[in-house]
Amino acid sequence: MVLKSSVFLRTFIPHFQLHLVILYMKGTNESGLTDISNLGEFGLINRITKDFPTFHQNVVKGVGDDAAIVEESENTVQVYSTDLLLEGTHFDLAYVPLRHLGYKAVAVNLSDIVAMNAHPYGITVSIAVSNRFPIEAVDEIYEGIKLACQKYEVDLLGGDTSSSRLGLVISVTAFGRAEKSEVVYRKGAKPKDLICVSGDIGAAYAGLLVLDREKSVYLKAPNTQPDLTDYDYVVGRQLKPEPKLGIINQLKSLGLHPTSMIDISDGIASELHHICEQSNCGATIYAGKLPIDYQTVKVAEEFKISPTTFALNGGEDYELLFTLPIQDFDKVKSIREFTIIGHITEEPGQIHVVLDSGEVVDADALGWDHFKE
Ligand code: ADP
Ligand code: MG
Repeated sequence: MVLKSSVFLRTFIPHFQLHLVILYMKGTNESGLTDISNLGEFGLINRITKDFPTFHQNVVKGVGDDAAIVEESENTVQVYSTDLLLEGTHFDLAYVPLRHLGYKAVAVNLSDIVAMNAHPYGITVSIAVSNRFPIEAVDEIYEGIKLACQKYEVDLLGGDTSSSRLGLVISVTAFGRAEKSEVVYRKGAKPKDLICVSGDIGAAYAGLLVLDREKSVYLKAPNTQPDLTDYDYVVGRQLKPEPKLGIINQLKSLGLHPTSMIDISDGIASELHHICEQSNCGATIYAGKLPIDYQTVKVAEEFKISPTTFALNGGEDYELLFTLPIQDFDKVKSIREFTIIGHITEEPGQIHVVLDSGEVVDADALGWDHFKE
């Protein structure tokens, strides 16, 4: 083994080129290399993961769903998922309390396990902290982590700790388990299936906008403190998301087995694309049917943006988006927690939104501009 690794090192080192590092530091404009934004996040993931072989037959699903599925026994599977939270990219410590941050880091990972219709049982937590943080700050993060562990009955199984020269980094990996027959993938949606969503959507994005606005006000007048009384719901949805374990339990008790499912981390439009891509189908949804809370609508009005845009493109609600055979319509139509927002169609990748006016538009065309009032 030692010999092998030294052979690897000897063959590797001649390829090491310091000037490449310098090129990368110059940026793509000057270096002539390709900007990552050409591919986007999902294009990049596809590119970097496409040529990996699968060595183990018990890997039922690797890259490409909310979590990986690995066979555990004849009837059961293990479920794994990981997510990274980076200061400055995913959170702003000006308005995210550390305890909430710890809680959220766990919650969003459990959400990916739940999105496979599986039950989480454990997590590992890795953190990188800069020395501007006192011990008490790390205690706060872990208070939040512990709260989430207690609420969802998951065990802390381990992790890693490092110092960071830049911002705070938290990475959580979640572990879950499911009956093999119970697992729901992003693939599996069929034409005519009902498209359903749990809870309400767009609120977490509304909360983010409010917090961001209050931060700007505070920076201009540091003696003031925001009054968030009228925004309690949307701010709560941004700061303290919950994995929808109750929803998968409810689906089971109603005898409903979704044909496909995904959690809403990036907004319905993006999540529907994932379902349609993996299920080789299209979708039509109705703007008027999107479940949007009153407070979300109020914030949308304040920011002069259509609530539909919040609902379609705002992320981080961590609700579940799932499809059900049309035969389940009677079972699902009167369940308060679920809303039927449309149906699956045959045309691969075609996602249409029927606006209140009756106009049918491509979901991709529904950028922020389209809806600006
Ligand atoms: P989610 O939004 O549900 O967390 P992601 O969009 O982050 O899902 O990831 C989609 C899929 O791509 C998942 O299967 C995830 O494990 C995989 N993935 C994401 N980034 C990487 C990476 N850098 N290397 C390997 N797999 C990745
Ligand atoms: Mg997900």
